[in-house]
Amino acid sequence: MDALTSPVTISRHGAVAVVRIDHPPVNALSKGVRQGLLDAVRALDADAAVSALVLSGGPGRFVAGADLREMALPPDAPFLPEVVGALEACTKPVVAALDGAALGGGCEIALACDVRLGSPTALVGLTETRLGLIPGAGGTQRLARLVGVAQAIALVCEGRVLKAGEALSLGLLDAVAEGDLLAEAIARAPSEAKRRLSALPAPAGDPAAAEAAAAKALKGAKGVPAIAEAIRVIKASRDGDFASGLAAERAAFLALRESPEAKALRHLFLAEREAVKVPGLEGAKARPLASLAVIGAGTMGAGIAVALLDAGYPVTLVERDATAAQAGVERIDAVYARQVKSNRIDEARKAERLARLTPSSDYAALADADLIVEAAFEDQAVKTDIFGRLDRIAKQGAVLATNTSYLDLDAIAAATARPQDVVGLHFFAPANIMKLLEVVKATHTAPDVLATALALAKKMGKQPVVAGNCDGFIGNRIYAVYRRHAEYLVEDGAAPEAVDAALEAFGFAMGIFAVSDMSGLDIAYAMRMRRAATRDPNERYVAIADALVEAGRLGRKTGAGWYAYDAAGNRMPDAFVTRAIEQARAAKGIVPRAFTPADIQLRLLAVMANEGAKALAEGIALRASDIDLAFVHGYGFPRLKGGPMFAADTLGLPAILAEVQAAHATGGAGSEPAPLLLERAAAGGTFSDWRKAGAPMGGIQ
Ligand code: NAD
Repeated sequence: MDALTSPVTISRHGAVAVVRIDHPPVNALSKGVRQGLLDAVRALDADAAVSALVLSGGPGRFVAGADLREMALPPDAPFLPEVVGALEACTKPVVAALDGAALGGGCEIALACDVRLGSPTALVGLTETRLGLIPGAGGTQRLARLVGVAQAIALVCEGRVLKAGEALSLGLLDAVAEGDLLAEAIARAPSEAKRRLSALPAPAGDPAAAEAAAAKALKGAKGVPAIAEAIRVIKASRDGDFASGLAAERAAFLALRESPEAKALRHLFLAEREAVKVPGLEGAKARPLASLAVIGAGTMGAGIAVALLDAGYPVTLVERDATAAQAGVERIDAVYARQVKSNRIDEARKAERLARLTPSSDYAALADADLIVEAAFEDQAVKTDIFGRLDRIAKQGAVLATNTSYLDLDAIAAATARPQDVVGLHFFAPANIMKLLEVVKATHTAPDVLATALALAKKMGKQPVVAGNCDGFIGNRIYAVYRRHAEYLVEDGAAPEAVDAALEAFGFAMGIFAVSDMSGLDIAYAMRMRRAATRDPNERYVAIADALVEAGRLGRKTGAGWYAYDAAGNRMPDAFVTRAIEQARAAKGIVPRAFTPADIQLRLLAVMANEGAKALAEGIALRASDIDLAFVHGYGFPRLKGGPMFAADTLGLPAILAEVQAAHATGGAGSEPAPLLLERAAAGGTFSDWRKAGAPMGGIQ
């Protein structure tokens, strides 16, 4: 590698050589970094003028891990085990100076050094299992020798990121430098001895503790194959020599790297970072947010207020009258009381958060807010009235947001004289817990308003996904198709519990009918009634859910819906539902047929991806991976499958297209194959690699 362009440089401080990795933004272990490190260590080992080495990533960072984009490319030497091996084999002491993140491969590099000196802001951890991998450059074997097998299993399987203090107490750090980290490392290095973890005897430790740690990790594994592999490989460190442990670890790492689960998790990791990059927002500066407000303190408004209080903002909460405002405060109080009860926060923190809440029944209280989220009833007239009032009361430059699920954002914005300040902030229930935040752009939403919404999402720890304005935006639009086709399957012969079992076997935490029962069947019913007049007569309509609602079965809240529930809340099939289904079939002359779990899974995945393709082509979603994020973070789609668009790409679009054609034959109007699906399937392409060509703001509508 050319010395001028290498991301690894060497500087001399007397007999100490500082090897500096400089590969922004996070010093990911790309080929150039691996090669640069290898060359530097070998050269300095052979240099008689050098007595010791310091390895640094510069201020605020060490090495945050592998270069995930490179993992999709053909392997290219040198590989990390060689770099790590050279560091450990170096005949001179090597001090790792850890500032910021030393994670994954970065932590493995640090473990190959003789001394680990951290700054107070150092972060250390073997985080590979979060991406469906295990450490592949000796991390498991060295860590087991350093902290024992049980602790290593716990740390690796959780993918824990340790702060400096905890890393010090567990022995991952030898010391924490309070002063200048690099100066201290340089001062210490010459007097250090070689301390190779690989030279330590195989770890002993309490076998019962190791078994307990393994059992706990497997319980939380949720089907991630990397967890079982990590346990196996760490346990193997007890049995043999270091070299055979290393070989077992590497073999497991290489196999996992190609696993569909790891590919899906890598896809989501990159998707999460890409989602905040919106073409056209490059120059936009987020507006400052000091004081926030929420209108409506029902299910969503209360949850949104909690999310904003948790993010540190003062929050004004406006309701229709004093009684409703008080009910809202009680709802919020109850959320925090549950958190105190389960030891997630203490009383002092609860009090501090509630002290930042100002309830009111007077819209004038909104005059100072920098951003207002409306979460009142889902009714166009109510929202139009509220936004008209906001236009008169809110200060100039305030962001006016709505939590609407389905309504037309442009119509809401038109109730104001400042449509550029109006944006959708679509939270999911419970709003303080669910990670997804759909940020909806209306026709006139200003770039800096979108940038403000994205900055707010970051502050709240939410995953934002930018959506265009259409019925249901990204998530609910696709969910509606998913639900419709689940009902077609039921009418055609699959029992609701069979559909749910197939979805749960696919990886959803809960099947779609169980979810409907939990959220309540009345909301979707009201929407169907609202739309009855404008529904395409050629769209197949299933009336079973209507029959359930009209019989007073609104889901869990009334004790029955698609299922019956016992006193403990366990769901079970119900003869009433079976009869309603049979009647619906009889009315249409449908002879029920059998569906396997695989049939159900393929059908529902195909129709979701098909609707996703329509949303993509229309500019409702910027990229397929944003749709994946919406479903994984907002609708319980299994992470290990990477989201509906990624799962469709993985299965192959020709197979998806064939299934969509079958779905169209049963569903009629509205279920047509998306032109984009036809095009991608014919071209042998994927959704993931498709972008709307040459469109402003990435084509978002
Ligand atoms: P909700 O009925 O529980 O709460 C609405 C609250 O708004 C009530 O407390 C009501 O008193 C108050 N309100 C009504 N008109 C008002 C006005 N003019 N001024 C002040 N307050 C007023 O409803 P919700 O489920 O919290 O839904 C609120 C919004 O969030 C809707 O637009 C809904 O579509 C959307 N949403 C709901 C969910 C969900 O799962 N419930 C999810 C995402 C978005």
